[in-house]
Amino acid sequence: MEYEMRAEYAEGTSPRDPEPRFEVWHMTRLGETTALCGRELAPDAVRQTADAWGTPAGLPLCHACGAFYIHQVPHHLM
Ligand SMILES: [Zn+2]
Repeated sequence: MEYEMRAEYAEGTSPRDPEPRFEVWHMTRLGETTALCGRELAPDAVRQTADAWGTPAGLPLCHACGAFYIHQVPHHLM
């Protein structure tokens, strides 16, 4: 199972706005728009690879997604 990170935007803004207000990163399964925590994310939201996990580029990260991710990914892949 592969994962990627997808951005959530602040209430009332979307990726289509001229200046979208980024809120937090969620983890999703590759190509999906539903985060591990259950949050529905915009199909055109910014994504980045799960390699950003644990680096400054992956912050801030949804705490619920972080907990799910730790339990789903075998430790040797982290
Ligand atoms: Zn989340």
